[in-house]
Amino acid sequence: MKKLGFGLMRLPLTDSGDNGSIDQKIVDKMVDYYLEYGFAYFDTAYVYHAGMSEISARKAVVERYRRDKFSITDKMPTWLVTSASDYEKIFTEQLARCGVEYFDYYLLHNIGIKRYTDTRQSGGFEFMRKIREEGRAGHVGFSYHDKAELLDRILTEHPEMEYVQLQINYMDWENEAIQSRKCYETARKHGKPVIVMEPVKGGSLAGVPQEADKLFRMSRPGMSAVSWAIRFAASLEGVFMVLSGMSDFEQVADNVSYMCDFVPLSDKERETINKVAAIIDGNMAIPCTSCGYCFDGCPRRIPIPQYFALYNNQKQFGLLPNQMAYYMNLTQEHGTASDCCECGQCEEHCPQHIDIAEQMKEVAGVFDSR
Ligand code: SF4
Ligand code: SF4
Repeated sequence: MKKLGFGLMRLPLTDSGDNGSIDQKIVDKMVDYYLEYGFAYFDTAYVYHAGMSEISARKAVVERYRRDKFSITDKMPTWLVTSASDYEKIFTEQLARCGVEYFDYYLLHNIGIKRYTDTRQSGGFEFMRKIREEGRAGHVGFSYHDKAELLDRILTEHPEMEYVQLQINYMDWENEAIQSRKCYETARKHGKPVIVMEPVKGGSLAGVPQEADKLFRMSRPGMSAVSWAIRFAASLEGVFMVLSGMSDFEQVADNVSYMCDFVPLSDKERETINKVAAIIDGNMAIPCTSCGYCFDGCPRRIPIPQYFALYNNQKQFGLLPNQMAYYMNLTQEHGTASDCCECGQCEEHCPQHIDIAEQMKEVAGVFDSR
C-alpha cells in the first residue's frame, strides 16, 4: 500500500463555526483524486468533526467504492468508556456510522498513563483481541501520546497489539516531552510497524521561517515545506503509513504529487532538515537544552525540561490539542507547573542560567488555566 494515509479530521466545512458541517461535495472530489492515484488508506475516529467524520467516510468512500478498493481505520474513544459493555456499544455504532462490516485497522485512541490503566481495568485489550479474532478488525493497535518508557511497558505487557500510531515530525523528533524518536525506537525494538500522525505538526510546519524556507527551496525547488515534513516521516524504516489531515483539494494534489512515487530522503536532504530544525529551535522562547540537571532536587517533582519543551512548542506553533494531552499525561505522575513553590533549588543546577521559577509561572499560565 502507498504510504500516504487520508486523515479525516480536518475536512472542509460549509460553516466555519460548526465543526460538524463537513462539505461533502468537496470531500468526495478529494477522495476521488486520492483513490485515482492508487492510494487507499482512510483514517477516521468517533470524535472527529463531532462524530460526522465517520459518516462522511461512509458517504465519500464506502458508498461509492468497492470494499476491496480501500482500507478504513477507526478508533475507540478510550476516555468515553465507563464500563466494559461500552466497548461493544461504541464499536457497533462506529460500524453502522461508517457503513462497514469490519475495519481494516482498529486502534485504542490516545493511550497515555491514565488511559492505559483505565483501559486495562475495563477490559479494553480483551475487547481488541476479540474483534480481531472475529474478523471485525483486520489489525489492532493503539495511538499513543506519552513517554517511551511507558510505551515499552505497554508493548511488553500487550504483545498482541500489532502496531502503534505515533506523533512523529522533524521538530518533535528530539522534543523531551513528546519523545518522537525514543517512542519510534521503542516500537521498532518490539518489532512493531508504525503509523505516523501529525507529520506536519498540526499544519504548523507548512510555514517555516524565511531562512529555513530558503534552504528547502535551494535543495528542491518547487517542493512545498509540507513535502519535506511528510517525506521525513515516510523515510523512516518500519513506517508503513503517514497520515495527512487534508483540508482542501490543493493539499491532496500536493501530497499525491510526491507520495505517488515516493523517494526517501537522501543523506543530503536529511542534513537540510536538520538545519531547518536548528533554525526553528533557535527561536525557542526558553533556551532549555533538556540536560535534566534540574529535575532531581525538585520537591514538587515537576518535570521541568518536559514542561519547557511543551511551552516552547506552544510559543512557536500555538497550542495544539495534542500538547495539552501530553501535559495532562505528565501531571498524572508529576507536579503541575502551578505546584512550583519557587524554592529555587533547580536554578542552582541549570547550566543555561534559566530563571526556572519565573518561567514556570508562564508555563502554568498556558497549561493550568484551561
Ligand atoms: S523552583 Fe519550582 S521547579 Fe524549581 S525546584 Fe523549586 S519547586 Fe521545583
Ligand atoms: S537544567 Fe536548565 S537547561 Fe537543563 S533541563 Fe533544567 S532548565 Fe533545561
